[in-house]
Amino acid sequence: MSERILLSTPHMSGKELNYINDAFDKNWIAPLGENVDKFEHMIKDYTGIHSSVALSSGTAAIHLALIEAGVKDNDIVFCSTLTFSASANPIIYQNAVPVFIDSEKDTWNMCPDALEKAFIKYKVMNKEVKAVVAVNLYGQSAQYDKIQEICKRYGSILIEDAAESLGSEYHGKKSGTFGDFGVFSFNGNKIITTSGGGMLISNKYEKINHALFLATQAREKAVHYQHEEIGYNYRLSNISAGIGIGQMEVLDERVNRRREIYEIYFKALSDIEGVHFQPEISNSKSNRWLTALTVDFDKLSVKPNELIDYLNVNNIESRPVWKPMHLQPVFKEYDYITLEKDVAKQLFETGICLPSSSNLDDDEIHYVCTKIKEFLG
Ligand SMILES: *Cc1c(COP(=O)(O)O)cnc(C)c1O
Repeated sequence: MSERILLSTPHMSGKELNYINDAFDKNWIAPLGENVDKFEHMIKDYTGIHSSVALSSGTAAIHLALIEAGVKDNDIVFCSTLTFSASANPIIYQNAVPVFIDSEKDTWNMCPDALEKAFIKYKVMNKEVKAVVAVNLYGQSAQYDKIQEICKRYGSILIEDAAESLGSEYHGKKSGTFGDFGVFSFNGNKIITTSGGGMLISNKYEKINHALFLATQAREKAVHYQHEEIGYNYRLSNISAGIGIGQMEVLDERVNRRREIYEIYFKALSDIEGVHFQPEISNSKSNRWLTALTVDFDKLSVKPNELIDYLNVNNIESRPVWKPMHLQPVFKEYDYITLEKDVAKQLFETGICLPSSSNLDDDEIHYVCTKIKEFLG
């Protein structure tokens, strides 16, 4: 293979250019316009959620969700520990206090029992938990039947970080629709991209309307630029939204291709003793944004980084599973709730993400499989 095989790269359909050209023709080169409106509508139609606001990033969407949830100074926010740092950083932007929650083995996502344990602990301490940020790792949905029920019982707002799971399903419903707020990312490495962007969705129309207001510098209705709240410059540009429309038209194709790639890996590698793929629990459909697996390195007597290095010299990009937030130096002072065993740490120490770009062909995936088998012996 002469070309390097990458983890997840942009995959344009070609239709994006039509919408970009349209924006140029109409001179709508701004963080508003027809493409932005249409892109928001497409996400609403796709998810069945009533309100959406297109933003400059998924991180901005999480930040605004926290603001709309009323998260302020010193408020407690529970957050999945096994995730990308962007799930947790906005909690700090709000001067709030993150408490990290361990994963469960079944989905690799927030463990409902650890979540319940955390609520009990903070209730005893007489501390209200304003919000919960639950992540759907690599496209696999968390178990929202349980998580929703727990959040409701303790009166906490649920923010679903579906940055990685657009196109996935849980109990027949689209991913991103299980929280009071849902968040998508269109960063360059995600299942579809706008080169950079995000979306905040909710059935709470007033909240989304206010998020839109904050995202456009909190300008009151007055010609002289009146401001009564602190605003942000978080809107998505009309050019980027044009890319998003072209990408939404092929989203289901992209999901199918990523699932096919997962199938190729599974067929080739699942028989190897000590190799376990991220599960897809019944009643759910993962978009398989990234195919992730764990390797029992004691059984195979090799270290994860050695496999990653081996693939690297063979021109293949792979990565460890996200390093949990409770192990990150920047978050070390914050509380972490786990049952007996640190599941997230174990997944981090044994987990690897494989090249999963929808524009990779079968031969390239077979080549990766061959190299992995070669290494694992
Ligand atoms: C990518 C990602 C984000 C952040 O999205 P951006 O659009 O890059 O800001 C947040 N959470 C998770 C889990 C992600 O993977």
